[in-house]
Amino acid sequence: MAIRFYNTLTRKKEPFHPLEEGKVRLYTCGPTVYNQAHIGNFRTFLFEDVLKRFLTVRGHQVLHVMNITDVDDKTIRRSREEQVSLTELTTRYTNRFFADLKRLRIRPADRYPRATEHIGDMIATIQKLVERGYAYPTDDGSVYFSIQAFPGYGKLARLNLDQMQSTERIQSDDYTKDAPMDFALWKGWKPEDGAVAWDSPWGKGRPGWHIECSVMSTKYLGEEFDIHCGGVDNIFPHHENEIAQAECASGQGFARYWLHSEHLLIEGGKMSKSRGNFYRLDDVLKEGYPPEAIRYVLLNGHYRSKLNFSWDRLREATQVVKRVAGFYRRLMEIDPAYRPPEQLPLTPVGEAFLDALDDDLDVPEALAVFFDWMRKTNQELDHSQLSAEEVRRRLDTLFLVNEIMDWLPSETRTAIPVDVQELVEQRQQARTETDWAKADTLRERIRALGWEVKDTPKGPVVTPR
Ligand code: AMP
Ligand code: ZN
Repeated sequence: MAIRFYNTLTRKKEPFHPLEEGKVRLYTCGPTVYNQAHIGNFRTFLFEDVLKRFLTVRGHQVLHVMNITDVDDKTIRRSREEQVSLTELTTRYTNRFFADLKRLRIRPADRYPRATEHIGDMIATIQKLVERGYAYPTDDGSVYFSIQAFPGYGKLARLNLDQMQSTERIQSDDYTKDAPMDFALWKGWKPEDGAVAWDSPWGKGRPGWHIECSVMSTKYLGEEFDIHCGGVDNIFPHHENEIAQAECASGQGFARYWLHSEHLLIEGGKMSKSRGNFYRLDDVLKEGYPPEAIRYVLLNGHYRSKLNFSWDRLREATQVVKRVAGFYRRLMEIDPAYRPPEQLPLTPVGEAFLDALDDDLDVPEALAVFFDWMRKTNQELDHSQLSAEEVRRRLDTLFLVNEIMDWLPSETRTAIPVDVQELVEQRQQARTETDWAKADTLRERIRALGWEVKDTPKGPVVTPR
């Protein structure tokens, strides 16, 4: 079956065709780094991880960009509260975010552009929007996007603008803007911003949140690209505004497929930092649950359906990943020399698994295929009905599924490739000769190949990045 995705823009499932055959340009909204992300956020990031892994297994080369929001109201407020610089605060939480991604086995993006490193690009885009009549400066040194100037405004969220504007007008007491729904592209400096400010043609200030994603996505993926993702709460206003800014600045289309994942709930309500009803990854890990069970519990549902988190579900998930691990060990006992080949063959069950994912990433259906097959295979093993060759094919299938789910225990993780091994040895040599510069260069080369080397008293430990 051909790949189909539900596109929020058209509210339909559509056949997926990237702009360039075999290449997918993907943008996913990243975290606001004022706090440690909660497992609700990770539901969205895991959906994106599975989407990317699936496209890769289906033969696409995926170029993935995820922004880091390191300046906004929340980051500024928190840095003031903690009396640390904005950079100190955001660096701390960016690093925690990367550590969490790793623990959840989320494959890294190709790039993580930070908002504060792209202020010049944002100013240039805002200038373009002002020149073209889509935006206007105000007396307080801010710049607003005029939604009236863009007839396409509201197409993603399907807004009834007339209705919204009349209700907004009653609630809004902000008279600096021409129209209440207009949103800030640039925010003029206020005393509570402290030292956080950049010079611009409109005076000191900082960019709005929405402009950063329009600018950084198009900078690294091109003005028009394939897929844009986020959680459903991003549809309005964030993604609606991204479309307005990007399309008006370039005069071209923007993202072609918009995929949004539903929320993770806790006791029926959205898990969110502002409600205070959230768990961080650390909160769950310290209870002793393995990361692969957390990965599984957050993936075990269709991305467009709400998912309820509970400790019971997590306990069940732990049993499931244990059963999968037991199944893996059982097959490996028969063929201990088995190593997954670089290019995993597409077995019929592997194909059925991917077929289910072709249909708008139907993980529950794909898992049903997998568990049915695992049960049958276990029965065949009970009756010693499988030849050595058949066992190898089963392991191929298991590893193909694992390319997407990544739920097997860590002992199975890909063996370190020889070229990485050689670089590690050369680096050890350089270290013994106290040639630190060379050792550092080698570490970078190892990193570029997707591996991390850590020095421990027992010698270097190499892990996938
Ligand atoms: P933030 O750091 O708040 O910008 O959120 C990062 C990502 O997590 C965004 O794509 C949000 O849509 C998503 N998100 C926030 N809360 C939840 C939730 N309870 N369930 C799933 N995704 C969420
Ligand atoms: Zn964004």
